[in-house]
Amino acid sequence: MGLSEAATEGLGYGKDRVALIEAPDPDAVEAALWDAAPVKAPEPGNFHVMGGKRSSVTVALQHLHKHAPAPRDIVALADGSPFGDIEVNADGCTLCLACVSVCPTGALGDNEDAPELTFTENACVQCGLCRTTCPENVITLAPRFNFAEAAMSPVVKNAEEPFHCVRCGEPFGVASSIERMVGKLRGHSMFADEKALNRIRMCIDCRVLDQWDGEEPAEGLLPTRPTRTTDDYLREREASASANESETEKPNGAGHGKPSDS
Ligand code: SF4
Ligand code: SF4
Repeated sequence: MGLSEAATEGLGYGKDRVALIEAPDPDAVEAALWDAAPVKAPEPGNFHVMGGKRSSVTVALQHLHKHAPAPRDIVALADGSPFGDIEVNADGCTLCLACVSVCPTGALGDNEDAPELTFTENACVQCGLCRTTCPENVITLAPRFNFAEAAMSPVVKNAEEPFHCVRCGEPFGVASSIERMVGKLRGHSMFADEKALNRIRMCIDCRVLDQWDGEEPAEGLLPTRPTRTTDDYLREREASASANESETEKPNGAGHGKPSDS
């Protein structure tokens, strides 16, 4: 009722268009209906109510918006309403995409080819999971009806260029999160010097190469000898036996046979 009131009042249909009659007696219900003040009926719709609850509500709201006495694209709603936008403070967002992974409706999305956070308002149910999960606390919920066409499509909430490894130039990660990590780990005993700290700005492969630059690899990282199996020993024994055999069979006693007269 609250949502219907917000929509009808916000679109100029007037206040108190929706009321609840609670009466067990059918005559009392009839009396209440006759007593209700007459109001101008909205333009009847000819759409079918199909699909889930949310898509049915969306079709009905779009119809009301299309024929509204005072059409507006945005109608603010009370906290806790299941429609709305989210605001992302891009200065604090590191594009970690933790919010994308928890969004139950797919309203939040990413881009496989670049660090990017997208949002489709029509799909958002304002559950707040993204806000709770965000490690940087940069998400705010903004409950509202948005009748604009743009609410149906993804919009970019934050985007950055990929960070490039300072050693090989390969793109990896996002500049803001790498620099944030550098800032947080500065002063840590494992990253005491600038060289170690700079490894955070390298891709995984370069970190390992840089670690062992000019140093012998630690024992655990040396190539290990191949494992010998019973088959290897048997193969060697067979080869040695056939070598001995051919030595014995050589003419003129080159091997272990009878020495030649000459
Ligand atoms: S809004 Fe928060 S959770 Fe989402 S990408 Fe940005 S920092 Fe990560
Ligand atoms: S509030 Fe819920 S539905 Fe909306 S973007 Fe956040 S996680 Fe997704």
